[in-house]
Amino acid sequence: MRLAQRMESVPRSYIREILKVTAQPDIISFAGGLPHPASFPVDAVASAAASVLEEAGPEALQYTTTEGFPPLRQWIADRYKRQGINVSPDDILITTGSQQALDLVAKACIDRGGKVVMERPGYLGAIQCFAVFGPDFVTVPLTPRGVDTDALRQAAGDAQVFYAVPSFQNPSGITYDEQTRREVADIMAETGCLLVEDNPYGELRFMGQHLPPVRAYASAPSVLLGSFSKVVSPGLRLGWVCAPQEVLNPMITAKQASDLHTPGFTQRILHRYLMDNDVDTHIASIRARYGAQRDAMVQAIRQHFPEEVAYTEPEGGMFLWCTLPEGISAEALFHKALERKVAFVPGRPFYVDETDDTFRLNFSNSSPELIEEGIARLGQCLREYLGR
Ligand code: PMP
Repeated sequence: MRLAQRMESVPRSYIREILKVTAQPDIISFAGGLPHPASFPVDAVASAAASVLEEAGPEALQYTTTEGFPPLRQWIADRYKRQGINVSPDDILITTGSQQALDLVAKACIDRGGKVVMERPGYLGAIQCFAVFGPDFVTVPLTPRGVDTDALRQAAGDAQVFYAVPSFQNPSGITYDEQTRREVADIMAETGCLLVEDNPYGELRFMGQHLPPVRAYASAPSVLLGSFSKVVSPGLRLGWVCAPQEVLNPMITAKQASDLHTPGFTQRILHRYLMDNDVDTHIASIRARYGAQRDAMVQAIRQHFPEEVAYTEPEGGMFLWCTLPEGISAEALFHKALERKVAFVPGRPFYVDETDDTFRLNFSNSSPELIEEGIARLGQCLREYLGR
């Protein structure tokens, strides 16, 4: 057998591996990135599915166009208009989750050996996806206000792409403030580097002032990714790319080659769901739930963690990020925490190097009571591990 070399240097998703260990029922897990199942609109999706079959019949089960179901693309474009982003439905391509959009972006925009600027730490799903295409990764640090714009200016000069999650980033929970957004938009215009803005959490803000995507400030063409995973359901696997035609066209060709089209049936079900329900009320209820869980986690960390452990206080999204004192290994801590039946994700896979003094905590999938109990256990572990 002579397998291709392409996949040899691509890391396995560390999180998927960890989830196998942390799935045991007696472990309190802050490891995954799962939305809370109580937020899934099961009954509404059931009746949307029935309506689709009743009204569209066989057409809903037929092959369809690569670009996606036109009324769903229209809905997305209309929603962007409310945020001051003027795009046409023709600028939208429906994808099988935004993860597929990352793959299509890579195929259309990243050459082997091409320079790709990543946030440090960065979304591991993007690192993994881009790694298949053999780019030269360059990282720019995140500060509490967003990406370090001086470092970005230096890195972006000869880069093909800057991949960013400016709102409630996975893994750090950090959000770019307004000035950083403007500066990023300016740097992209000055350098000709293409911004790929991934925004699955933008609508999940539970405190502070709402900010539109960087795209709203941009004068140069940019790519904006969205997803229904965190606001309706990840199991539907529905996301999208919003991009100018010159970027979208090669992505459409890549998608044809890859899976012909995103399932038409699920697109119709989702569209019907969006027509028949008040999605803003639904998203508000998710925000309220995650906001309370985030507060419980921050509160418990204040009470139980040793002072030397730094942490972010996210204003939205699903994650909080902790930094250990220098030289302390999060991976070793992970194994000690498992003995106490509590889990998190060590930070290493979120870097393109071997950094191991950070870890990610997810707060979307546990009740405030479990969060308090799990963080108390982790606090005890940390005290023992740090010798406090
Ligand atoms: N981008 C980021 C930043 C994410 O956190 C995720 C989900 N973990 C994705 C993309 C992929 O989401 P999906 O494919 O479900 O839309």
